[in-house]
Amino acid sequence: MTEITRDVAIVGAGPTGLRAAADLTAQGVTVAVLEARDRVGGRTWTDDVDGARLEIGGQWVSPDQDALLETLDELGLDTFDRYREGDSLYISKAGELTRFTGDIFPVAPETEAELVRIIAKLDALSAEMDPERPWEHPRAEELDRISFDAWLAAETDDQEARDNIALYIGPAMLTKPAHAFSILQAMLMASSAGSFSNLVDADFILDKRIVQGMQAVSEGLAERVGDDVYLKQPVRRIRYDENGVVVTSDGMTVRAKRVVLAHAPVLYSRITFDPPLPRRQHQMHQHLSMGFVIKVHAVYDRPFWRDAGLSGTVFSPYQLCHEAYDNTNDGDERGTLVGFVSDIDADGVFALSAEERRERILDSLAAYYGPEAKNPVVYYESDWGTEEWTRGAYAASFDLGGLHRYGADVRTPVGPIHFACSDIAGAGFQHVDGAIRMGRLTAQNLITEIGA
Ligand SMILES: Cc1cc2nc3c(=O)[nH]c(=O)nc-3n(C[C@H](O)[C@H](O)[C@H](O)COP(=O)(O)OP(=O)(O)OC[C@H]3O[C@@H](n4cnc5c(N)ncnc54)[C@H](O)[C@@H]3O)c2cc1C
Repeated sequence: MTEITRDVAIVGAGPTGLRAAADLTAQGVTVAVLEARDRVGGRTWTDDVDGARLEIGGQWVSPDQDALLETLDELGLDTFDRYREGDSLYISKAGELTRFTGDIFPVAPETEAELVRIIAKLDALSAEMDPERPWEHPRAEELDRISFDAWLAAETDDQEARDNIALYIGPAMLTKPAHAFSILQAMLMASSAGSFSNLVDADFILDKRIVQGMQAVSEGLAERVGDDVYLKQPVRRIRYDENGVVVTSDGMTVRAKRVVLAHAPVLYSRITFDPPLPRRQHQMHQHLSMGFVIKVHAVYDRPFWRDAGLSGTVFSPYQLCHEAYDNTNDGDERGTLVGFVSDIDADGVFALSAEERRERILDSLAAYYGPEAKNPVVYYESDWGTEEWTRGAYAASFDLGGLHRYGADVRTPVGPIHFACSDIAGAGFQHVDGAIRMGRLTAQNLITEIGA
């Protein structure tokens, strides 16, 4: 068992933990980053699968994500635009496939009017929220008692309008069914991305990718930390008192003044705390749960959909793959589609055999792109639900009523223990940008506390 002493121990080498570690190191604060996996990056993972380079986890960058964009500049990482030339496709409730351009799906005029009206209402409501403190909204408690689904049902009788608005936040963002989270939680998601309209606009929220891959962010930050990133070190125990912490992983003991838990909140309970965390932490951590989505990668000899003047962008709340995009790598001759199967649909296909699941998912892609979609040269499903050190995707959110009840305390340190990850970010909530913001903020707070 290796024993070391550092100023700060950091649990988790994802973008949050490594941003904090790099900032602390730059200020002369000594750190040890303990990572359970054999790689850095956490929920960002750029890897080769059967000869195809895939973004298995997080990948897109939007123009408002200043913290991430600054880190990309700092690390010398380049971006490229998501392919978006040509028409998008929509499959209606009646099963009709329609080409369209712009943000609003091609629906009947009365449904379109409802979509426009409700989006404006959600923009106004999300503009009233401070994403750092949604629980301070004057109607926070009332809004946290109503599911997003129930709010939409009260708003309009137009089922297709409801299904489409639910899609933007349910399957597409929180990756939970719209009856499982509140309108307050939905508005945190919208305000954290600037507005509800920004979530509707795929060209905004899914604007760019990183040429070197999103995992390169964590790799670049890890280089700045140097030898103090320790892989294959799942942290099992944290002993703490007013003098500091003793953090024990499978192969190491780190004595430090402070510790940062820089990973998804659902994993806090994997660690034994001595003394146990306070009652409130035990309660509130149980009200944060991971969403669940399968990210499906299908690689073809060429991006055949472009020949038909299609951008590759497709949506339907009525399809197994509720959204899919052209995800071709920069400069790649082959064409890649990435599709998403969320929450209840993901549960459903995981009850099938791998062969049946693949067939169902490829049938869904073929409903948009035609029969050629059924024959990819590489097919891969990112299944973060089976990853012991993540347990879902994309991130965690509060269940109904949890955000106004516990939100204000979720980042409050317990003695020397600090909590930081994208799942508890305000701006950039659930995104790499939020992870970078949380890493920066935590490093600043630690420097103030322990003095550097
Ligand atoms: C499929 C998918 C697609 C996504 N798409 C996007 C996207 O396009 N754009 C975007 O911005 N975001 C996206 N995200 C979200 C983004 O990846 C996360 O918000 C971000 O990675 C969170 O960073 P983090 O450092 O807070 O946590 P993580 O990335 O989860 O890192 C936490 C680290 O802690 C480690 N760990 C956990 N417990 C322990 C322990 N006990 N001991 C030691 N180590 C431990 C884990 O192994 C992990 O490496 C996506 C996520 C997924 C899964």
